[in-house]
Amino acid sequence: MLLHYSESMTLRFCVRTSIRTTCVLGLLLSFTASLAAADPGKQYVVRKNDTLTEIARKHEVSVAALMKHNQLDQPNWIYPGMVIRIPGSDGRKAAGSLDAALRKKLDLISVPSRKWRYVVVHHSATEAGSAAGMDRYHREERHMENGLAYHFVIGNGHGMRDGDITIGNRWREQLDGGHLASESLNAKSIGICLVGNFDQERPTQKQMASLQSLVGYLLKRCRLSASAVKTHQQINPVHTRCPGRQFPARDLVKSLKS
Ligand SMILES: [Zn+2]
Repeated sequence: MLLHYSESMTLRFCVRTSIRTTCVLGLLLSFTASLAAADPGKQYVVRKNDTLTEIARKHEVSVAALMKHNQLDQPNWIYPGMVIRIPGSDGRKAAGSLDAALRKKLDLISVPSRKWRYVVVHHSATEAGSAAGMDRYHREERHMENGLAYHFVIGNGHGMRDGDITIGNRWREQLDGGHLASESLNAKSIGICLVGNFDQERPTQKQMASLQSLVGYLLKRCRLSASAVKTHQQINPVHTRCPGRQFPARDLVKSLKS
């Protein structure tokens, strides 16, 4: 079978393992940590009768994450007046707000009304990667004249800074994507690729915060609702595992609705 160019890209970047394993939508696991709970610089002062379990539940983080973040060896090693740091809050920008410089760049790009109907999330299916590396690969190996098949790439700290968002040429020029196995879907789907293999590990917190704020911006800009956000697996006409079974798709959509 002659592969559509974007299918071949897809096979390289997203679905290398899909041939072996059946895809089930229900496999998408939900994260224990909710993005909506992210609160920059948040601390909690322990009160009498508090338990770490209750504190964890209140802040929608796991007990293990709290213990690790506060270097606690035992969950009951807390006392009234003790300051507990809530993980994921160290210097992170508020969820939902794009970096001002990036927002300015995005605002300057003219977006045709009603062109975009979907925002599709992918993973690179590689441990490391960068927008520049993917662009080179798509141009030289996949012979895509417009290069980078996605509109945006979000780094994971290996090849690109963790949480950094690269605006691809296809978004600057408002060109169709090359990330789905369908020309018509590529014409109306914004592609965002997170570097990482989310069959093996979860996206970083910074990646998810950046993804949430970028998607929030794009939905507003394109006048779309949260239901326009899809994983590659959910929308692709050809089976794929992308963006991996550990990608928290439900939490992403939930955070966009709240
Ligand atoms: Zn994909």
